[in-house]
Amino acid sequence: MLPNLPFDPRHVLIGGAWRATAATLQLINPSDGSTLCQIARSTETDVDTAVIAAQTALDGAWGRMSALERGRCLTRLGELVLKHTDLLTTLETLDVGKPVTQARADAIALARYCEFYGGAADKVHGTTIPYLDGYTVYTLREPHGVTGHIVPWNYPMQIIGRSVGAALAMGNACVLKPAEDACLTALLFAHLAKEAGFPDGALNVVPGLGSEAGAALARHPGVQHLSFTGSVQTGRTIQTLAAENVVPVTLELGGKSPQIVFDDADLDAALPFLVNAGLQNAGQTCSAASRILVQRGVYDTIAARMADAYRAKTIGPANSDPDIGPLISTKQKARFETLLEAAHDLPSIAETPMPADLPTKGAYVQPRLYGPVPPEHPMAQDELFGPVQVLIPFDTEDDAIRIANGTVYGLVAGVWTADGARQMRLVKALKTGQVFLNNYGAGGGVELPFGGVGKSGHGREKGFEALYGFSTLKTVAAKHG
Ligand code: NAD
Repeated sequence: MLPNLPFDPRHVLIGGAWRATAATLQLINPSDGSTLCQIARSTETDVDTAVIAAQTALDGAWGRMSALERGRCLTRLGELVLKHTDLLTTLETLDVGKPVTQARADAIALARYCEFYGGAADKVHGTTIPYLDGYTVYTLREPHGVTGHIVPWNYPMQIIGRSVGAALAMGNACVLKPAEDACLTALLFAHLAKEAGFPDGALNVVPGLGSEAGAALARHPGVQHLSFTGSVQTGRTIQTLAAENVVPVTLELGGKSPQIVFDDADLDAALPFLVNAGLQNAGQTCSAASRILVQRGVYDTIAARMADAYRAKTIGPANSDPDIGPLISTKQKARFETLLEAAHDLPSIAETPMPADLPTKGAYVQPRLYGPVPPEHPMAQDELFGPVQVLIPFDTEDDAIRIANGTVYGLVAGVWTADGARQMRLVKALKTGQVFLNNYGAGGGVELPFGGVGKSGHGREKGFEALYGFSTLKTVAAKHG
């Protein structure tokens, strides 16, 4: 059951006012299949009203606010997020089925995004450019205008923090479309933003279906930048819609990220990262390390130790704080199980035991480790978005690079080796947006620019890089003789 909320989940926030939509959608708790509440089902008209409200904010108090004041609003919002960590954690646990510890980490990360971008708001500036005699030339960093943020259900708080936080810091007015499966923390975030003193319309939230509210936002001619995290298929649709309006898009579309373990690696240090980066959030992580490439000399050891770790993991309802909760929905469970049929010809190394008393209507799936798996096998190529990893043996450094780069994705890679020269060679050879050397921590690191190449998407969020992405550059050339 939901705790008492300081907002009505059936409402949208537009122009500083909460209002009901004509229709609603049911929000389900994936731990047991129970109905949590009804949420707003925003229409094209609601989205249009939100975009107009955002533009009005830009033309008014929000557009006139100094970078310093914007930063202070974000800093206050970060403090309020921290103060409400317990409620945010509870909502994410119920709504996403995320185990308590992992949900709490997301709430703390959301506060950290607000702190980081609050502090950064007045530190992004243009430059002066030496030019012809008689000229002074300089650049200005300016907001795009109205920015659209289409957010998935796997890490609502972190993804809102990294995209909306950076966009607000640069003075954009945001229209946020959270996922239909998980929008409660987005609504609480919006409630807190009002309390933090953001002017009306600086942040608008319109929950609803992707095909309705999401598509209406993506094709709206009043939106000047789009940020999307989710599937390749939807990303392609959004980029196509944005192309009609010729607006920039940031796409973060997931991956099939490898961790590469060489014979000389510190296995004790590597083991927890190898396993947890695959099973965290039940594998529903864009940067999940779903492929583990292991050099032949340590293959048997890694397989045995990862198998032990799989058998020791706990599964259960999110509020019991297990290692692994349910998937987001029975729809995702069905999708995952269909994709998993591709594994029928693969040797299974280990499975996590399923407790007998799991709620029958929960979206639980069994975590599985397979190996050895040929690199071209569908299980080593396709993103399953569930708790499954494959072990792929390799012989030489060149083999490892070829296999690691051998998918359509390129989000994150981890490299485990004591050889410094090899580390540097791998960093250059790997076609990914991030490389972790002797660690793997893509989910964390508010300060670290993040994004992909290939079908993992384009553009960068997080860190200072996001502030450049959420702004545009104006060059001023003054001729004064
Ligand atoms: P999705 O990409 O369809 O949904 C993500 C967001 O996009 C949601 O807010 C959704 O409402 C919105 N959306 C959907 N269709 C839209 C459209 N036509 N126009 C505008 N917005 C739209 O993802 P899904 O169907 O919820 O999940 C399917 C698969 O996507 C997953 O199994 C996984 O492989 C992938 N996924 C990846 C990530 C990631 O972090 N990279 C996150 C979620 C899902």
